[in-house]
Order: sequence, then structure tokens, then C-alpha cells
Amino acid sequence: MNEKAGKTYAGKCVDCGASLELYEIDFKKGRRIMQCTRCGLYHFYKKGFFGKWKLVKAGRVSDLWRKSK
Ligand SMILES: [Zn+2]
Repeated sequence: MNEKAGKTYAGKCVDCGASLELYEIDFKKGRRIMQCTRCGLYHFYKKGFFGKWKLVKAGRVSDLWRKSK
């Protein structure tokens, strides 16, 4: 019951369903990258108007944000 306390960034991998851990976060731009603890897939999140994180895309490389303009 208390084991997941504080894990506000918890999510699930879209590929294998394992839990994600925080890889990178940018509060100024309102985005963050989570990485799968099992397969290493990166998950790119964007912050919405109500402060809710929304999954934008998932990929094998960590620099997808920089490529997309
Ligand atoms: Zn995975």
C-alpha cells in the first residue's frame, strides 16, 4: 500500500509494460523524458495546460526532442 509513495513520475512502458524511471526533465519547456527500466525505451512527455503529463511519443533514442521542431 505504501510502496509507491513519492513516485509521481511512475508510468508504464508502451512496449513491454515495465515501469519507467526519470531520464531527463525540463521544467522551463514543460517536458520530460522517461526511460523504461527493462527495455530502455524512451518516453517523451509534454506538460498540458492543467499540469498533467501527456505522452507524446516513444523512441529508442534520447534526442528526439531536438530533431523535431
Ligand atoms: Zn520497455
